[in-house]
Amino acid sequence: MSSLFLRKIFSINPALNCVTRRCFQTSHPVATYKLVSRPDPSDDWRTIGDESARHLFLIELLKGMGITMAKVFQEPATINYPFEKGPLSPRFRGEHALRRYPSGEERCIACKLCEAICPAQAITIEAEEREDGSRRTTRYDIDMTKCIYCGFCQEACPVDAIVEGPNFEYSTETHEELLYNKEKLLANGDRWEAEIAANLKAEHYYR
Ligand code: SF4
Ligand code: SF4
Repeated sequence: MSSLFLRKIFSINPALNCVTRRCFQTSHPVATYKLVSRPDPSDDWRTIGDESARHLFLIELLKGMGITMAKVFQEPATINYPFEKGPLSPRFRGEHALRRYPSGEERCIACKLCEAICPAQAITIEAEEREDGSRRTTRYDIDMTKCIYCGFCQEACPVDAIVEGPNFEYSTETHEELLYNKEKLLANGDRWEAEIAANLKAEHYYR
C-alpha cells in the first residue's frame, strides 16, 4: 500500500518516482525478456483502495492460514527418523559385509578379484592355503574412508562373499573405527544375512 501511495505522490516528478522503482540496474532489460513476476498494479485510486483493503483485512495472511489448515489433515511427507525409516532399494549399497554359507564356512575363496577391481584401492587381502587344500584369506581389510561405494567388489565376487548390505547407520567418531578387518566384515555378514539374502534374491534376474 505504502509503495503505491508513494508512487502516486511522486509520479509528478520522474526523479522522485525512481524512489519507488528499481533504479539500481545498469542497463535496460532486453526487449525480448519475458517478465514472469506479477505486474505492478496500476496507480489509480481504485487499485490503491483495493490493495489497502487487502492489507487491512489481512487477506494474504488468511489465505496462508487456509493452506496451513488444509495441510494439517494431509499425510505428512516427512518421517520421524530414526524411529521411522523409509523404504530401501534392494540395490542399495551400504556397509560392506562378508558372508558365510549356511554351514558357517566363509564364502570368500581369496581370489582377490575384488581387490583388483576396487578403483579406490580400499581392499587389502592376504591369503594362504589351508591343510585341506582350500584357499582362504588370512587378512581382509577395507578402508571404508577410501571406499566410494561403487559396488564393483560385489559385482566381481564369484561367490557372493563380499556384498554391500542395507546398513547405512555406521557413522563413527574416529577414522580408525572405519578401518574394517575380516572379523568386523564377517560379523556384519552374520548380522545382516537375512536382509542381504533377500536383496540378492530380489535382484537375481538382473545379475
Ligand atoms: S564399493 Fe567400490 S570402492 Fe568400495 S570397496 Fe568395493 S570396489 Fe572398492
Ligand atoms: S570376496 Fe569374493 S572377489 Fe573378493 S577375494 Fe573373496 S571370493 Fe574373491
